[in-house]
Amino acid sequence: MRHMKRSFLALHSLLQESRCPCALTSARRLFSACASSPKVCIVGGGPAGFYTAQHLLKARSDLVVDIYERLPVPFGLVRFGVAPDHPEVKNVINTFTQTARHERCSFYGNVSVGTDVSVEELKKAYHAVVLSYGAEGNRSMGVSGEKLAGVFSARDFVGWYNGLPSKKELHPDLSCETAVVLGQGNVALDVARILLSPWDFLKKTDITQQALESLGASRVRRVLIVGRRGPLQIACTIKEVREMINLPETKADMLPGEFEGIAEALKDLPRPRKRLTELLLKTLKVDEGQQMVDKQWGFRFLRSPVEVLPDADGKKVTGVRFSINTLEGSGEEARALPTGQTQDIECGLLISSIGYKSLLIDPSVPFDPRTSTVPNEMGRVSDTSGLYCSGWVKRGPTGVIATTMNDSFETAQILLKDLDSGTLDPSVDKAGAQEITILLKTREIRRTQEGKCSFSNCRTGTTWAASCRTFRQPEGPPRQGGTDATPASDWRIQRGSPTTQAMAEEDKRARFLLGRGGEYRSVKTDSEAQARTRPPDSESRTHGGRRPGKTPAPPRESRLRHE
Ligand SMILES: Cc1cc2nc3c(=O)[nH]c(=O)nc-3n(C[C@H](O)[C@H](O)[C@H](O)COP(=O)(O)OP(=O)(O)OC[C@H]3O[C@@H](n4cnc5c(N)ncnc54)[C@H](O)[C@@H]3O)c2cc1C
Repeated sequence: MRHMKRSFLALHSLLQESRCPCALTSARRLFSACASSPKVCIVGGGPAGFYTAQHLLKARSDLVVDIYERLPVPFGLVRFGVAPDHPEVKNVINTFTQTARHERCSFYGNVSVGTDVSVEELKKAYHAVVLSYGAEGNRSMGVSGEKLAGVFSARDFVGWYNGLPSKKELHPDLSCETAVVLGQGNVALDVARILLSPWDFLKKTDITQQALESLGASRVRRVLIVGRRGPLQIACTIKEVREMINLPETKADMLPGEFEGIAEALKDLPRPRKRLTELLLKTLKVDEGQQMVDKQWGFRFLRSPVEVLPDADGKKVTGVRFSINTLEGSGEEARALPTGQTQDIECGLLISSIGYKSLLIDPSVPFDPRTSTVPNEMGRVSDTSGLYCSGWVKRGPTGVIATTMNDSFETAQILLKDLDSGTLDPSVDKAGAQEITILLKTREIRRTQEGKCSFSNCRTGTTWAASCRTFRQPEGPPRQGGTDATPASDWRIQRGSPTTQAMAEEDKRARFLLGRGGEYRSVKTDSEAQARTRPPDSESRTHGGRRPGKTPAPPRESRLRHE
């Protein structure tokens, strides 16, 4: 109580003394830090983390949110998953940036929860902890040979072309003619499209320079996208199929035999599935008469991998042995059963896009190994007070950004309800980030985590500097299909954008300070904090963004990928 009174007095005198924005900002911060503010910590700075934060901050004017992120930079899969030729999807970053700039929100990059700090410690320092750490694990094929050179998970491959620092050294060998992509979801099609896109087109995107150079020298001419079930169970959406069909100098190479009986099934299909299937059937007809073109792509159905075939040295992939399946049942529920027959498909590159799974990051967190999710009821973690979850770790690794937004809002709503009902008691004093920062310092994480650095509290400049160089400025005007207001070069948060001059200077400053044993803090400098409380007029005009304090624009669903 005495602490609160002191805070109010200090706030009052600050407001009396000065009307300048600086004093107002400090006063607001002081007010925010008073003992009765609910302090919420979010683990993971992807869409789920930011949407949860956005909803909480909007609903309560006294609530403080701190986001802890394992990577140096925020935005999770929006930054390191979404394909470089889909800049319009990345527009959500503008909304997230508004949240990051909110005066009651802080972002702490390069903090790996479960390793650098435990969930129990976070629970002690905050009134509530929300787990939004996504699904970082890959589902394995479970067949021999999957560790051979030339075999990659889609997540790694996508991370490589999107500049994920840990995947910089992936160096996929693209000297083969045929690549096989396992799985028929949207990510599989992203990978196939990037492999076959003309270089002139890719260079207009924000793909990394390194990936651009490799793809420029690529000899891959044929990509087969293989699934264990049939054309009626394909998991991608019509937009992604259309993009494959429209790839220049590329033709679809399907097997008409795999579509037997499909036309007859059309009438009973739900509308989205029907439209997708009609498009596939149309593609068969068009391409029957098409002339020879340079590149090909095609779906292959009813095949499951049983072995990845090695070369004579047993080191590199040369093909995949597939079991031929038949379907039991029909529609979405149909199951693939092996017929006992097999088929080998030659390839020099195999990319497995068969799904992700969340990992257990801390033994104190309840975890269901069967579903690889944190067990919860509408985001409230089962049998653990003060712990919540949102996004892929909550409902499993399916769904697009819009789905993630909805379930994050649901979690935030439940948390707010618990605050209102007294289940969470904000009158108990919690130190929040102050306590966690001290903890991290006392552990000398800065010295032991050599090679890492962060967006907000950088420890070393090394990796960040290295990853910066992999990014490049997209060339030429914004491509057709993107929005003029948000060319590919603009979508990144300005402060963190590795493509900007500001970033290069930031990086130089980090190296200088860290080289002298100092601490680098790029986000929380006073001048930036002040800047953040001012409405970003120029940005609003460019991106149609809104002023802080007003409701940020929801993602334009029409621009996002649909399930
Ligand atoms: C390759 C790919 C492409 C996609 N493309 C599209 C698309 O075009 N359109 C669309 O709408 N959807 C797309 N999606 C789906 C979309 O990305 C997801 O719906 C969304 O990212 C899920 O949000 P999330 O916050 O739960 O997970 P994530 O985006 O994965 O965010 C989780 C965050 O938590 C961090 N984290 C992990 N472990 C820890 C830890 N121990 N401590 C602290 N932080 C941690 C991670 O670094 C990450 O930043 C795509 C998904 C993938 C995989």
